[in-house]
Amino acid sequence: MAIQTLNPATGKVEKTFDPHTEAEIETMLAKGEKAFQTWRHSNFTHRSELMRFVQGELAGNTEKYARIITAEMGKPIQQSRGEVRKCALACEYYAANAETFLADELIKTGATRSYIAYEPLGIILAIMPWNFPFWQVFRFAAPAIMAGNVGILKHASNVPQCALAIQEIFTKAGFPEGIFQTVLVESDGVDVLIKDERIKAVTLTGSEGAGAHVASVAGKEIKKTVLELGGSDAFVVLQDADLELAAENAVRSRMINTGQSCIAAKRFIVEEPVAEEFIRKMKEKMANLKSGDPASDEADFGPLARKDLAESLQKQVEKSVAQGAEKVLDGGHAENDSAWFKPMILKNVKPGMPAYEEEMFGPVAAVMVAKDAEDALRIANDSRFGLGASIWTNDHKKGQELARRMESGAVFINALVASSPEMPFGGIKKSGYGRELSYVGIREFVNQKSIWLA
Ligand code: NAP
Repeated sequence: MAIQTLNPATGKVEKTFDPHTEAEIETMLAKGEKAFQTWRHSNFTHRSELMRFVQGELAGNTEKYARIITAEMGKPIQQSRGEVRKCALACEYYAANAETFLADELIKTGATRSYIAYEPLGIILAIMPWNFPFWQVFRFAAPAIMAGNVGILKHASNVPQCALAIQEIFTKAGFPEGIFQTVLVESDGVDVLIKDERIKAVTLTGSEGAGAHVASVAGKEIKKTVLELGGSDAFVVLQDADLELAAENAVRSRMINTGQSCIAAKRFIVEEPVAEEFIRKMKEKMANLKSGDPASDEADFGPLARKDLAESLQKQVEKSVAQGAEKVLDGGHAENDSAWFKPMILKNVKPGMPAYEEEMFGPVAAVMVAKDAEDALRIANDSRFGLGASIWTNDHKKGQELARRMESGAVFINALVASSPEMPFGGIKKSGYGRELSYVGIREFVNQKSIWLA
């Protein structure tokens, strides 16, 4: 895929970039390695001070960075601003807490003194997607760098200006050269990087296919990976739920980032007695959303990030409809030569249909009716993915019991699934492995060293 800014709202190529040459990449790796040798010994006070400059840069220039996000991948501007602010929060969180999270941990044994020391690994390669082009990077970079590692970012080919802006932010904040670098390469240039002995571990956020490939290359090199992959989150509505609240959040969750979020609710599983009412409410709210220029404050949703994404989503819908799914709200890929896609709701979604089996990465809600709560749980778990899930019920005890049996990395009860710096984030099954955020995330890319004094 060409490395370029192609504004999905207008279809115009705004800027193209040449990939870095072999010699340039060699220079970056050498710089990263050199920077690590000093950075690994820096103290937490110094690291925190610089990370707070990053926070300040993001908070003080939210509009500037939000505009780049919107121009490159079409996110409604208000949401782009929110994304930049969230990155600032993550920087502050790790600036404040990294030292505590990585303090020596005394363990009681037969030794005079025994403990776990957390030590950085070196250069971590981050392969990131376009859908939250700032947030995905910062939730990796803030903890990794605070832990004493250095980062090389290979961003998605359609968000090069975001990638370069993030590198610039770290430079502006005063981080030494080589601590955070952006490499412009297409995906076929990634294997060489993974195999380089200076790269010590890899984190990838993206699709299942990319994750499987990257993990297999890293596995051959015996390098650790964290994989944050796709999801098809269940949104379970029980008959005792506050239906108005559930429907409102169903639409918010499905439509965030114009439907292009790994933790967007994608499968809506509703107990039979309230199914029709829930669908009616959801349809009403979804139909009221306004499409528009994502750079304006009025748009609730914009185009998808690329035309090919709209085309493949349309194929998933058509195949599901041909297999018996019913359109409750009709929309879809209206203009063939664009990235625009209108929201849709499908009901009567059954096993075997793409809407049941696959991730629908755009504004299409698949509704399924469950006989009872047990049946809803069965349907929710009948998925190759296991990222997040939400349960809507006024019975808090029952909600938590079901949450325990849900096959996913997170379950939210009466709230939509969202990431926050304090809580671990990640999936099971084909949604990946490893965790980001929280104290758990910062411990992924460190040597958890046992020290034993007899
Ligand atoms: P993608 O096509 O897999 O791309 C993600 C990144 O991987 C990009 O930088 C891409 O580079 C690179 N890549 C693709 N194929 C590769 C390969 N064979 N070898 C090495 N690198 C490769 O995914 P996407 O379409 O950008 O993102 C959407 C997917 O990400 C969805 O499935 C979504 O659910 C998932 N996602 C998961 C999370 C999570 O936290 N679990 C968060 C956000 C998104 P190029 O752009 O150059 O191809």
